[in-house]
Amino acid sequence: MHEEEGATREFDMSEGLALAIAYLEDPSDVPCPMCGREQMEVVCYLDVHSIEGGNVTPTSPDGDYTVVLYCHKCGRAAALDLSRGEDAEDARGREAA
Ligand SMILES: [Zn+2]
Repeated sequence: MHEEEGATREFDMSEGLALAIAYLEDPSDVPCPMCGREQMEVVCYLDVHSIEGGNVTPTSPDGDYTVVLYCHKCGRAAALDLSRGEDAEDARGREAA
């Protein structure tokens, strides 16, 4: 697969990483790596396990989830997988207790 420069509507890996770090630091204020602040909107949260199963199910932002961000300025969307095995197991343990 070859993507022509300027034609892509997705963030590249380094931009995605920057988005993920910014989201983890402050989910309410995620700057677009190209366009800056106040352009990114959290579109929805998706359940990681249902994506793996071929379904896309909106979920609440806890446990294993993917957050979908959209930049209104450059028109690109990013899906950040924020599932972290250890934390998720920890959360399930607390719920069970
Ligand atoms: Zn942008």
